[in-house]
This record gives sequence, structure tokens and C-alpha cells, in this order.
Amino acid sequence: MHNSHFVLILLGPPGAGKGTQAELLHKEYGVPHISTGELLRDHMRRQTPLGLQAKSFIDQGHLVPDPFILDMLFERVAQDDCQKGYILDGFPRTVPQAEALQKHLEKGHPPCVVNLELSDAEILNRLSQRVTCKNCGSIYHLAFSPPKAPGICDKCGGNLIQRADDTKEVITKRLEVYHAQTAPLIRFYKEQGLLHSVSCAQSKESVFSAISKILN
Ligand SMILES: [Zn+2]
Repeated sequence: MHNSHFVLILLGPPGAGKGTQAELLHKEYGVPHISTGELLRDHMRRQTPLGLQAKSFIDQGHLVPDPFILDMLFERVAQDDCQKGYILDGFPRTVPQAEALQKHLEKGHPPCVVNLELSDAEILNRLSQRVTCKNCGSIYHLAFSPPKAPGICDKCGGNLIQRADDTKEVITKRLEVYHAQTAPLIRFYKEQGLLHSVSCAQSKESVFSAISKILN
């Protein structure tokens, strides 16, 4: 990574492992992993006005409208720990969001975009077995990365639950929304020569090494 300031965008459907990769990249490159989903859940836990409105959209399998997301995100990346750059996970989801980000980055460098690819069938299989810690947000997969004790978070001892947005019906709806909204986004970055694709139908270590190669 040669730039003094960089923005890495991780694209990919829910369940492609964006969060896992972002954490690995954070450890390797020392820039914060910013998940708009986690930011939203934090707002919801604290029951901020934004959090309360966002919750009703998410519970129905809808995406949260742009103005909410942009306010929340730009407030976050203005903080000190983002001065060297940051990894975006779950943003942008649409071309208007990508354009808003580009405007925000005007004085800096263009983002590096990595698209994590995975089939819908595999996504459904992965997500319906995913559980999340109610307390700290850590994610486990009952087949691939189960907790040491059933139902209990390894890190903090909190209760593990299936999130309302991890049921089959909601996932199917999210995938429809994802494909409809993301195809133009992928075109948008491809046209600018910023898009790199990585298949996620391999171990997380292989995915990580493929992304690292792109960054270096
Ligand atoms: Zn926990």
C-alpha cells in the first residue's frame, strides 16, 4: 500500500464474508474497519433517533435510506483514527452513495474497490447458520466457526442470537434488493477501472491473500 491515505471498499452480497475480511485487513494494515451495518446497530442499541428509524427499515428486509447512512458514515470517518484511511464494509450500496463518497474523497485518492463474489445458494446456506453476539456483535457460523460453548460468545460471554435479518425470508428479500441495486454500482466502478473481483468460494485465508495481492 503506497498511498499515505487510502480507502478500501469491500463489495459483496450479505454472507460473502466482508466483515471477516475487513477484520483481517484491519490487523494487517492498521486502518479501521467501518461497517455501516455495525454503525447502524450501534445507533439502534443506543436508541438514537436515527437508530430507531433505521430499525423499522431493517426489520422488514429493506435498506436504510441514503441521507441516514451518509450522515452517520461521514461523522464516523471524520474521527482521528481514520486519518490514514479506512476499510468500508457495507457501503456504498448504490451509485448515488458511491457518487456521494467520491465527492467526499475529492481531495484524496480514488478508492480501491474489491468485489467479493458468491452464489445466492451459498449465501443462503451461510447466512441461515449465522449467529451474532447480542452484547459485542461478534459473528459465528454454526458449521464453519462455531462458538466454544453453544449459544455463548467466546469473547465476552454474551448470548448468541440469530439476527432478525438472518432468516431465510429476509435474506431472500435482501438478495433481490442487493442484486437490483448493486449491478449498476459494479458497472460504475468497472467503468472507472477501480473494480477488482475475488471469488469467495474458497477459504477465508485464500480470499485474504487475493485481496492483499490487489492492495500491494
Ligand atoms: Zn460477545
